[in-house]
Amino acid sequence: MDLVSPPPPPPHSAGYSSPPHANPIATTPNTPNSASSPSPSNSTTPTTPSRYENQKRRDWNTFCQYLRNHRPPLSLPMCSGAHVLEFLRYLDQFGKTKVHNQTCPFFGLPNPPAPCPCPLRQAWGSLDALIGRLRAAYEEHGGRPEANPFGARAVRIYLREVRDFQAKARGVSYEKKRKRPKQKVTVTPPPSDSGPNG
Ligand SMILES: [Zn+2]
Repeated sequence: MDLVSPPPPPPHSAGYSSPPHANPIATTPNTPNSASSPSPSNSTTPTTPSRYENQKRRDWNTFCQYLRNHRPPLSLPMCSGAHVLEFLRYLDQFGKTKVHNQTCPFFGLPNPPAPCPCPLRQAWGSLDALIGRLRAAYEEHGGRPEANPFGARAVRIYLREVRDFQAKARGVSYEKKRKRPKQKVTVTPPPSDSGPNG
């Protein structure tokens, strides 16, 4: 029952011997984040997750909820790249980025002068970041990297197609500052490992 750790030896007490029940504030080093954290007992583990971690957890919950509502029911180990694509297309209905159809007169205009009936979609950058977070979350939840559906080839190809089409449709360039020689892109249809589905 004597699990109480001995008190740390007092630091260089310059002429002043602190009593055994000294005020702990006097010996606590200055921490900038101690304003609103009432439990300073464990100072080695960060207690505030980053915005990235929060977003990753929200994304993961969204995906798990999507799986629960899926018809037919879908469990995580059954999940393939094709299901990830389904999920991404499902998210498009919540998108806020106008992506013009090729038949729209505003196709390719970054700032269209009038409204048009083209759909709102998820921007490529959002999808790309989302897939990155979900890919990490999948492995953090015990998924094997070699079976990670978010790293599937079909998902990579889909993202590339979305990027290229949105770049054309909106007249914006997604090219990074790194200059690369234009190489011929051969787009192959994604392998249908779950059969054609609409
Ligand atoms: Zn349009």
